[in-house]
Amino acid sequence: MKQRIIVWFRKDFRLYDNPALYSAALRGKVLPVYIYDEKYEGSWRTGSASKWWLHSALYDIKERLAELNIPFIIQKGNSLTILRKIIRDTNADALYLNVRHEPHAYQQDQEIMKQLRQEDIVCHTFESHLLLPSHTVKKANGEPYKVFTPYYKAFLNQMVPKPFPIPELISFSYKDTLQIEDLQLLPKVNWIDDIAKNWEPTERAAYVKLRTFASHKIVDYEMGRDFPSHALHSAISPYLAFGQLSPRAVYHYIASKQEGHAFIRQLIWREFAYHLLHHFPHTVTEPLNGNFQYFPWRDDEDSFEAWSKGRTGYPLVDAGMRELWATGFMHNRVRMVVSSFLVKHLLIPWQKGAAWFWDTLVDADLANNTMGWQWVAGSGADAAPYFRIFNPVTQGEKFDDTGEYVRKWVPELGSLPNKYIHKPWIAPKNVLDEANVILGITYPYPIVDHAAARARALHAYEAMKKSLS
Ligand SMILES: Cc1cc2nc3c(=O)[nH]c(=O)nc-3n(C[C@H](O)[C@H](O)[C@H](O)COP(=O)(O)OP(=O)(O)OC[C@H]3O[C@@H](n4cnc5c(N)ncnc54)[C@H](O)[C@@H]3O)c2cc1C
Repeated sequence: MKQRIIVWFRKDFRLYDNPALYSAALRGKVLPVYIYDEKYEGSWRTGSASKWWLHSALYDIKERLAELNIPFIIQKGNSLTILRKIIRDTNADALYLNVRHEPHAYQQDQEIMKQLRQEDIVCHTFESHLLLPSHTVKKANGEPYKVFTPYYKAFLNQMVPKPFPIPELISFSYKDTLQIEDLQLLPKVNWIDDIAKNWEPTERAAYVKLRTFASHKIVDYEMGRDFPSHALHSAISPYLAFGQLSPRAVYHYIASKQEGHAFIRQLIWREFAYHLLHHFPHTVTEPLNGNFQYFPWRDDEDSFEAWSKGRTGYPLVDAGMRELWATGFMHNRVRMVVSSFLVKHLLIPWQKGAAWFWDTLVDADLANNTMGWQWVAGSGADAAPYFRIFNPVTQGEKFDDTGEYVRKWVPELGSLPNKYIHKPWIAPKNVLDEANVILGITYPYPIVDHAAARARALHAYEAMKKSLS
C-alpha cells in the first residue's frame, strides 16, 4: 500500500528540485504542510522584511500546488503538537522534510523526529538548501576548514548532485487549514510598499532573475561585481534564502556557461558559511576568535540610530543603509563598507548590526549574515585583518566614482560635482550653495572623523590584545 507522507515545508518553497517533495511523490501520496512556529525559531525570529517575503512565498507555493490539484495546509503553533494531530487525523505514516541548518532549528527537528519515530512514524530528511551537506567537505584529518581558499579547492573536487524534476503528485486530503492572512505576517503599519515594488517573490521569478543574469551580466560579473551602480550581481539571494531557487539548479546552470567560475566561487562562499555554522554554531552570537570577547565595544544609541537611518554624514554608508531600508537589499561591496563603519568607526558590536540586517534584509540568512559580520569585525574565519579599516570616502571614490549610487539613494546630494560627492564637507561654500546642500541641515556633517575613528579603533584593538597578555 502507498505511504501517506506529510511533506513539511519550511524554507524550501519550490516544486523544482525539492528533494523531500520529489522523494515523497515516488513513495506515496503527499500532504504538503507549513507550520508557523515562532517558538521553533528560537532567538532568530523571522525578521520584518523576511516576514513579507514569507507571506508572498506561501502564496506562491500554495498557488503552484493548487495548479496540480494539491492542497497546502497552513497551521500556526507548536510544530510537534500540530504534526501529531495531522498524523492522527489523516492516518499519515511518514514525515519528509528538507534539513534546516540553523542550530536551533536543526536541534528541534531532531527532537521532533525522535518523538515521531517512537510513535512509528517514518521520518526522512533531505538536503535542499546547499550544494552539498555542510559536513561533506573537511580536511584530511577530519577537522573543519577555517580558511576559504583550501575549502574552495577541496569543494571543487566534489560532485554536486543534479537537480530533481518537478514530481507528479497525488495527495491525500485534509481540510483543517488556516489562511495565509491568519499568520499575520504583514506589518500593521505599511512600510513595505517600496520593498514590494522591487521584488517578485515567486519560484518562477527566481528563474527569470537567474536567466537574466546568465544572459546579460555573467560576462562582466567578475570585473564589475564590486561596483554597486553597475548592478552586475544576480540578486538571487532572497530566493536562495527562502528555498524558491535550488542552489544545485543554479550551480549546474551556471557551471555550463564558460564565464561562470567567479559566480560559482561566490556560491561556494555560501557553502563555506554553512560549513562554519555547522561546525561553530555558537558563532551566531559569539566571536569565532574568542579574543574578541574582550574587545572594548561602545554602547552608543545615537550613533547606531544615525547609522541605521542612513544619517552618518558619509554618503556611501548612508546610501547603503537607505537602499537597505527601501528595498530590503544592499549590494555586497556596500554591505562590507557599512558594516565596517559600524564596528570600526563607531565601535558598536557586530551583533547589533547583524540583528539590524536580520530584521531588514529580504535575504536574511543566518549563515551568510554571521560570516559576513564576523569577517568584517575581524573576529571570524578567514577574517579581514583588524587593521584594514575601510575608508568610506576612498571606497566610494573607487567603487562609485561618478557617485551614481550615492545620487540615487541620497538625493539631497544629487547635484554635487563628482569631486565632492563622497566628501561633501570639504566642498567650498559656493559649490554647496549651488547644489542646494546645507551641511548640518539638509545633510549631516560626518558623525565621526575618519582619521580619529581609525586611530580609536586601532587603539581599542591594542587594548584588547593587552588585556589578553
Ligand atoms: C555584513 C554582511 C552581511 C551579509 N548578510 C547576508 C545575508 O543575510 N544573506 C545573504 O544571502 N548574504 C549576506 N551577505 C553576503 C552577500 O552580501 C550577499 O549574499 C549578496 O550581496 C547577495 O546578492 P546577490 O545574490 O546579487 O549576489 P551575487 O554576487 O550574485 O552572488 C550569488 C550568490 O552567491 C552567494 N554569495 C555572494 N557573495 C557572498 C558572500 N560574501 N558570502 C556568502 N555568500 C555569498 C549568495 O548566495 C548570492 O546570492 C552578507 C555580507 C556581508 C558583508
